[in-house]
Amino acid sequence: MSVIQDHYGRSFRTLRVSLLQHCNLGCVYCVAGEAELKEANAAGDSLPVEQLLAMIRRLKDQLPLDTVRLTGGEPLLYPGLASLIRGIRAAGIDAVRLTTNGFLLERMAPALKEAGLEAMNVSLDAVDEDVFARMSRRHSVSRIIGGIDAALAVGLKVKINTVMMKGMNDSQLLPLLDLAFARGLTIRFLEVMAMGHLHDQAGRYLVTQEEILERIGEHHRITPEPRAVSATARYWTTESGHRFGIIANESEPFCRDCDRLRLDSSGHIYGCLSSNQPIELGLSESAAEWDEKLKEALAQKQELKFVGSDLSMLHIGG
Ligand code: SF4
Repeated sequence: MSVIQDHYGRSFRTLRVSLLQHCNLGCVYCVAGEAELKEANAAGDSLPVEQLLAMIRRLKDQLPLDTVRLTGGEPLLYPGLASLIRGIRAAGIDAVRLTTNGFLLERMAPALKEAGLEAMNVSLDAVDEDVFARMSRRHSVSRIIGGIDAALAVGLKVKINTVMMKGMNDSQLLPLLDLAFARGLTIRFLEVMAMGHLHDQAGRYLVTQEEILERIGEHHRITPEPRAVSATARYWTTESGHRFGIIANESEPFCRDCDRLRLDSSGHIYGCLSSNQPIELGLSESAAEWDEKLKEALAQKQELKFVGSDLSMLHIGG
């Protein structure tokens, strides 16, 4: 296999697959309101398991892929999720991970573990039920915490992801940190992204890495860890050995060694979150045609930082 790479030495090693555009929450950084969510939930079927697996196997043949992360929409709503995970493992990719809102996790965790899922990120933007409802337009904090505990009970590795939004859930930073630390979990705080309906207004909600560190630093003595290659998050440890991360796409961008390729629920690839230029991959096309399209996708990558996109997170995941 000749490795496709750009002049920074970047290639695609991590594939993020958006399985569907449907969701059972309506988070404010994802959809503008119930109407947008309703429209997405009424959208047609996504690719069936066998077709997705055929695409993932072809990508694995042509790229040095070592990780697949399943996203959405909400991936736990995808029929055949366990078969898909089993198929990806059978294709020789051991690191199969998932990003979920956790709403259905309590009952699905055992089947996901049994299928070969390695780890998951569970989104949780508040501990307080009213703040959670403001962020997600639903009431389900206890249900999601139940899902996290069920995943831990079956031996899945879990991290919590929290999108911080000024004036919306910034009161929840320390309560969420406490919740994660009480379970021995790593929590990552994400700077809000200028995507979809927030393309032009994410700045007004931005809680920066510096502000997050300042707030946590008032309560804990913290030490930074060295950044891992191609990582989106930087991590810190506290004096009591707990760990948290920040995904600072605004304050500390990570494009220079970005290794992510995205596949959407209609079979289009995107080389970069900043690009709303879907590239269609057909299973009837030759390896040489896929090579050309993968090079085109790689050329979409930004040099310095995420510049915003009209793409909705509901369509492509984060
Ligand atoms: S903006 Fe594009 S190149 Fe930069 S980290 Fe995001 S996906 Fe990678």
